[in-house]
Amino acid sequence: MTGTHFNYYHICKRKLWLFSNGITMEHTSELVYDGKLIHENSYPQRPEKYEEIEIDGVKIDFYDTRNKVVHEIKRSDKVESAHEWQVKFYIHVLERNGISGVTGILEYPTLRHTSKVELTDDDRKTIARIEQDIERIISSDDCPPVINTGICRNCSYYEFCYVAEEQ
Ligand code: SF4
Repeated sequence: MTGTHFNYYHICKRKLWLFSNGITMEHTSELVYDGKLIHENSYPQRPEKYEEIEIDGVKIDFYDTRNKVVHEIKRSDKVESAHEWQVKFYIHVLERNGISGVTGILEYPTLRHTSKVELTDDDRKTIARIEQDIERIISSDDCPPVINTGICRNCSYYEFCYVAEEQ
């Protein structure tokens, strides 16, 4: 399980299922491409300051080892709670590996906005519950239904979910 699973779980269960079952459209999405450019261009000094780490198969792009801070860079804050849970999951994975006192910072460079992320005791219980729910959803034979919300227009699966229906 990765931070992307936690992110998608909070955005759309169908997206979570499609992604987890090997149906990926990210390479066709301009928004995802944009997001990658933001990563590469917003903080050109970042790779020297922070480390990319991989722990339990989970990749964290920007980790400030000295201050124990996970930095996560996003394009838009439309789904901020999904981003928060992604960072909380990273903090949880670090804790699980004996690294305590970690916090996170969500950064939206194009919006000039940042927000602090902390993992509470309630969050720890919620993460255990979410992990079980994610396992249940992705191992099901049934793909969850489309959610028909404003988020869909910016989703890499939009054509997959709606175009056939519209035609
Ligand atoms: S287009 Fe909408 S329903 Fe389809 S995966 Fe994306 S968010 Fe979910």
